[in-house]
Amino acid sequence: MLLTANLLSKKREGGELTDAEIEFLIDGFCRGDVADHQMSALAMAICINGMTSDETAVLTRAMFHSGHQLPRTGSRPRLDKHSTGGLGDKVSLVLAPLLSACGVDVPMISGRGLGRTGGTLDKLESIPGFRTDLDADASSRVLREAGAFIIGASDTVAPADRRLYAIRDVTGTVESIPLITASILSKKLAGNLDGLVMDVKAGSAAFMKTTADAIELARTLIQVGAQAGLPTTALVTDMDQPLGRAIGNAIEVNEAIDVLEGGGPDEVRQLVLDLAAVGLAHAGVAESEDAAGKVAAQRLDSGEARNCFEMMVRAQSGRLRGQLPLASAHPIKADRSGSIAAIDNASIADVLIALGGGRRRMDDAIDPSVGVLVHVRIGDVVSSDEPILTLHASDRCADEYRERLRRSVRIVGEAVKARPLVIERLTTDASTRG
Ligand code: URA
Repeated sequence: MLLTANLLSKKREGGELTDAEIEFLIDGFCRGDVADHQMSALAMAICINGMTSDETAVLTRAMFHSGHQLPRTGSRPRLDKHSTGGLGDKVSLVLAPLLSACGVDVPMISGRGLGRTGGTLDKLESIPGFRTDLDADASSRVLREAGAFIIGASDTVAPADRRLYAIRDVTGTVESIPLITASILSKKLAGNLDGLVMDVKAGSAAFMKTTADAIELARTLIQVGAQAGLPTTALVTDMDQPLGRAIGNAIEVNEAIDVLEGGGPDEVRQLVLDLAAVGLAHAGVAESEDAAGKVAAQRLDSGEARNCFEMMVRAQSGRLRGQLPLASAHPIKADRSGSIAAIDNASIADVLIALGGGRRRMDDAIDPSVGVLVHVRIGDVVSSDEPILTLHASDRCADEYRERLRRSVRIVGEAVKARPLVIERLTTDASTRG
């Protein structure tokens, strides 16, 4: 007979769990026989000792089988995109309706904030009334009406990930290639997809701090995806600085709307179009990435993607009238002239969490109106007294937070090179193209 404590010790000692042992732990966790504290211990042991590729594939399968697969409806191909998480990453909010406008269905099962990174579900819930907890019937209806939905894991869809994700968020067990792979792919397999495009983030604001680690994560996602019959492509992209200007919840929805209206920061638009091109070409909707990129740009500029976004928001019960309200604006100015050399993403995220824009505990409520606008990118030149950040927070928020934010942007005397956004591309055969 298997004993949970013995399996935890085995993983703690660096042993390889068998298929039956992994299935026993995940099934037991879902039934309530393996308690949250035991699952926390397992997550920590996996974080420290890793898993073999076979263990990762079995963990993914067990977590996927903890729930149901969404039914297929309609004849359009099904594509989805997922990011491994970063700061200011609002790409899914634009990409899901854009892909729908390009002729594919996007049944997106997404996540909440994890560690210091923001979550698509939390962002969307800044929209009054927006529901992310749709069941299979309701989500199929939204897919028919809008061609895209964005929902969370639930008691029936990837339930093991829903609970394990919340545990990892508050137990320091996020940064693990097997846990990230199983978390993402168990949700994506539940979406019953024809293809997946991954945005694997590398840098100080990502879970993978180095490009080498991000490439390893991308390869694992592609390999485990292929083993499970899900063709996956990945871009490895820079997360040494926030993506775009807005960081927070309502503020990121506002920036996503700007991009859907043909504006917004160039790098957000560019990444959306690059991911759309890779995904559409890979799914065979266009014959080349170039052709796919052109179609996507046209659907963004014509307002068709914006219409799909509005349809999706309405179909998920959201009430959106223009931009969402934000807390009071507090400009933060540069204290010297020079070039932007680095942005301390961890400090920015910690200030946002401290002000209620993120969670410290599993059951914390989020204040969607808290956010930060970053007006500069690495390599920009600024003059002393120029606004570099704007904090949106209550008027009572302590000066200490503004000072921490000012110190999070490092300005130096010499010129600094801007950083490329896309670092690597990987396809199903796991080869890389620069
Ligand atoms: N996104 C997920 O869904 N899971 C992770 O573990 C990390 C990013």
